Amino acid sequence: MATAGRVTIVGGGLGGLALARILHRHGITTTVYERDGSLSARAAGGTLGLNAESGQRALVEAGLFEQFRSIARDTGETTRLLDRFGVVHFDLAYEGGIGVRPEVDRGDLRRMLVDSLPEGVIRWNVTVLSAQKSSDGRTVLTLSNGTTVVADVLVGADGARSRVRPLLSDAVPVYSGVTFIEAFLSDVDATHPEAAHLVGPGSMYALSNGRGIIAQRNGGGVIRLYFAVKGDREWAHAFGDRTDTAGTRKRLLDLFHDFAPGLRALITESEGPLVPRPINALPVGHRWERTPGVTLLGDAAHLMSPFAGQGANLALLDAADLGAALAEHSDVDVALAAYETVMFPRAHMAGRASADNLVASFDTDAPKQLVDQARTFMQRRTGHSGGPSD
Ligand SMILES: Cc1cc2nc3c(=O)[nH]c(=O)nc-3n(C[C@H](O)[C@H](O)[C@H](O)COP(=O)(O)OP(=O)(O)OC[C@H]3O[C@@H](n4cnc5c(N)ncnc54)[C@H](O)[C@@H]3O)c2cc1C
Repeated sequence: MATAGRVTIVGGGLGGLALARILHRHGITTTVYERDGSLSARAAGGTLGLNAESGQRALVEAGLFEQFRSIARDTGETTRLLDRFGVVHFDLAYEGGIGVRPEVDRGDLRRMLVDSLPEGVIRWNVTVLSAQKSSDGRTVLTLSNGTTVVADVLVGADGARSRVRPLLSDAVPVYSGVTFIEAFLSDVDATHPEAAHLVGPGSMYALSNGRGIIAQRNGGGVIRLYFAVKGDREWAHAFGDRTDTAGTRKRLLDLFHDFAPGLRALITESEGPLVPRPINALPVGHRWERTPGVTLLGDAAHLMSPFAGQGANLALLDAADLGAALAEHSDVDVALAAYETVMFPRAHMAGRASADNLVASFDTDAPKQLVDQARTFMQRRTGHSGGPSD
């Protein structure tokens, strides 16, 4: 019977860090191998809305909820759905009080988790090159620094292209048919006041006929932009050639030629580089047979398109459930089985919702289905629907 003496975590994203923090609170030591050289090694990414029953619950388990409140924005909950003419079909205005879904900049959240861990837990600048089972049932990790380590309990929290996943499953992420071209606007209130007004304090989605402009207000006066285009991977990559920002901007303006001038201005005014981000997903319902001493969490387990807004929330919730299970059960494999029993069905449901939302967002002329869904959701959660008459 293996016990959780030391847990090896591959990946110091939100899920891996939250697990390390929660286990630390339970007196279980961890080592986190993280490919990035430091917190500032790459752009942190955009803003995340954390749900009460998932992301926020995990931060309570991590003992970091109050700290989270101090870096979150309630105004970030505001969500607008527009058509290509710029007509608003859904607008959840800021209602005040503790948010249903407060937003936080991903970089701030990751920093908070890193700062909550003792020195030395995170081994920065170490890429796990491969993970293999040894004859005694443990796992051997080959690291980019030329060494190998043996793990009794291994958690793959290493995202979309997980090196731990092949120990459990043959599944690989598949391109969804949609690519985001990412850009941003800075100092928006002073320099881009019309864009700031159009986007508002939270998120704005303008969707029409296989195309979308998604804008999210971040901290520090930044609006992050995603120009979503449908097309096969090669086309989308050539379309978003990051060495030719002016060319990509011109192609976007052509593609969004029938969008309202205010929406097209987001393309004209966007700051580069315009980075293509193909949206990939693991098969909906991805799962594996129980394998001694190894499991996955977050995107490594259930990568899905961002159209359900749940990936980071689920990574955090996985960490909370796995941490609690490892603390509760002295037999590691009982703990891993208990975690997977709750994780598989909820990941299945979220993966289904995300795949369906992607189709609804890009395969219909108007975002009607999304508006209906959003109204139903808000009616349930807040008692008002966010419609124009509210
Ligand atoms: C455009 C976009 C918008 C999104 N918006 C939202 C949203 O609003 N709400 C939401 O909930 N989710 C959102 N998501 C999804 C969310 O970003 C992910 O689901 C979440 O980051 C998953 O966390 P994770 O810890 O599992 O993986 P990751 O955040 O991918 O972290 C994995 C970590 O592992 C490290 N790593 C990878 N390979 C190795 C290796 N071999 N060795 C060592 N380290 C390694 C990486 O450097 C990284 O730090 C969005 C995603 C995208 C692409």
